[in-house]
Formats: sequence, structure tokens, C-alpha cells
Amino acid sequence: MSSTLRGNWNYPTTIWAGPGRIAELSEACFRAGIKRPLIVTDEGLVKSPMIERAVAALKDAVLFGGVRGNPASSHVEAGLRAYRAGGHDGVVAFGGGSALDAGKAVAFMSGQARPLWDFEDVGDWWTRADPTGIAPVVAVPTTAGTGSEVGRASVILNEETHQKKIIFHPQMMPRIVILDAELTVGLPRAVTAATGIDAFVHCFEAFCAPGFHPLADGVALEARAQMLAAASMGATAFQKGLGGVHAIAHPVGSWFNTHHGLTNAIILPYVMTFNRHAIAEKAEIISRVLNLPERGFDGFFAWVLQMRRELGVPHSLAEIGVGTGNAAVIGSEASLDPSASGNPVPVNATQLEHIFRAAVDGRIEAVVSAK
Ligand SMILES: [Zn+2]
Repeated sequence: MSSTLRGNWNYPTTIWAGPGRIAELSEACFRAGIKRPLIVTDEGLVKSPMIERAVAALKDAVLFGGVRGNPASSHVEAGLRAYRAGGHDGVVAFGGGSALDAGKAVAFMSGQARPLWDFEDVGDWWTRADPTGIAPVVAVPTTAGTGSEVGRASVILNEETHQKKIIFHPQMMPRIVILDAELTVGLPRAVTAATGIDAFVHCFEAFCAPGFHPLADGVALEARAQMLAAASMGATAFQKGLGGVHAIAHPVGSWFNTHHGLTNAIILPYVMTFNRHAIAEKAEIISRVLNLPERGFDGFFAWVLQMRRELGVPHSLAEIGVGTGNAAVIGSEASLDPSASGNPVPVNATQLEHIFRAAVDGRIEAVVSAK
């Protein structure tokens, strides 16, 4: 890897990017004011050499490896118990999107008196939090996709209601992020593809979300040079908003425990078809930026389908075990998901259910484009 891929950025937080920079983990904790970190990681990474090296590098660190995909409140609570039992003063969130989201939630909740769901991203509920009770986080992503390392929120599954809730506070932004692409090298091909498409969907949905936000738009269009950087940049862009793809993918992940990036990758063309008329101009710009042989929506759409095929993404949700049994519930939950309000055209529960059903069956032609 070339040394030009190395750098320190300060937007939207302090980011140390470059191969091998995980060697600076202990320095990062020091700068973030963490002396006794709880390392929060995914179940599958606990015994990996990179986690073993992190534990060895951090004096007084304790490892918590109880996070699974689509992290739930029970994972956060178990992490909190470990945090309090160990008398920690900060979190190193190390792993895929699930570990980052769970780790950020543990640090956020470490000094709060109210229950987790009181801090859902609704109105100004975040002001209920005691800002002095939020512990610092150093984030180390090992997949290039969710961009949770530069986000001010965690998506946590409420196991009682089966709904994914967004927990938000401006201070949930990690103090320091280490973007070391060497950590992503051992990732299985399918996970790399799925998380990569998630990063792409963040850029795409943010760019198409209505509103004036030239900073986010610029980032969304440029974020394609290098995958890990792109993932972080994409997540920066989606402060502007997301759209129908994420609105549907969230309840599907809650109900069927599917991989977030893969779910987005499958749903993408169905929502694009629904939004077709509303995104004509933006699709023209994207097709120019990508220098596609055919410009406009059709050229961009064909490129998305081809990329999906080449990466081995299934065409229908049925192929990953998703059925239409509770389609009406999925439609209604999707309409309530905050991402839905970022869709370029207003979309209601019935329309979202219809798009979801088409995606389960693999029938893009069944999606009616909104006018
Ligand atoms: Zn996403």
C-alpha cells in the first residue's frame, strides 16, 4: 500500500488513517484520556490475533467479546456490567459495525441513570442524557462499510418489540478513530462485498436525500477512492439523511437477523425503481462521476445491477431466508424508521410493504415508480 494512503484528518473527528497504524492504539487511548479501557468486540473476533495484540498492547485493558450481529440491548447491558465491574474509564470499540455500535452504547450508558430507550433518536430526547456521564471511545473498524466509527449514534435491537432503535447523542462520536486497512484483509469475500455495498448505499441515499448540504453531497460523490476511507466518508455524508433502502433494511434485520450490508445490497434496485423519477437528475450526475458508458438513471441502474451480480449478491430477499409473512408489519415499521424521511419522494407504509414484497420475490418489474 502506498504511503499516500496515510494521514491524520480532523473531520468529523480525529482520524488516524493508514496501514499499520493499529500500532498507535495505546497512544490513541492516552490522547482520549483512557487509562483503563474495556475493549468491546464481536464474538467472532475474540480469539483473533489482532484482538490478542490489542489486549497485549493496552496495559490494564479488559476484553468484552459478547457482541453479535444486529446488537441487542442484552449485549449492551452485559457490556455495561463488565464496564462497571472492571472500573473502566473508556471503551475501545474494535470490530465490525456491531462491535462499534455496542461499544459506543456502553460508553454512552456508563454514567446514565435513565434506561437506554429514553435516548432514542426522537426530537430532543438526547438532551435527557447527562453529558458528564459519557465515557470516551476509541474506535477501530475491521470492516469497511457501516462507518459507525464516525457516527453519533448506535443502532440497537429492542428484543421485546423486535425493533431496531437509533440511540443518539452528539458526544457518542468516538474521540479517535484508527482506520487501518490491514485489519480488513482477512475478512471473508462475501462480508467485504456486503459491507462495501453498505458504504456505497450510504453515499447514494445521502446524495439523493432532499435538502441543501453541499458538504455531504461532495463527500458522497468523492468517497470511492479507497474502501475503508470511503466507508467513513459515507457515514459522514449520511448525517444529511438516508432513504427507503435503510428504512426497509432495518426492520428486515430486526425480524430475520440478516446482515445489514447484504440486506441493503439486495433491496437497493427495488427502491431505486420506486424513486426513479425523483432521482433522475442525481442519477445523471452520479453516472457522470462514475464515467459510465450510458448516462442517466438507466445507465446507473444497469451498473448497480451488474456490480451486485459481480459481487455475488442474491437478487431476492427470499434467497437469504426472508418471507412475506409479516410484510405489513415490516412496511409499517419501515415507514416509522427515521431513514424513511430522507427518501427523495415521500413514501408510506403501504408503498414500503409493496417494495418489500417485490424484493422478497425478486420482481423489480412489480415496483411502481412514484411520480
Ligand atoms: Zn447502512
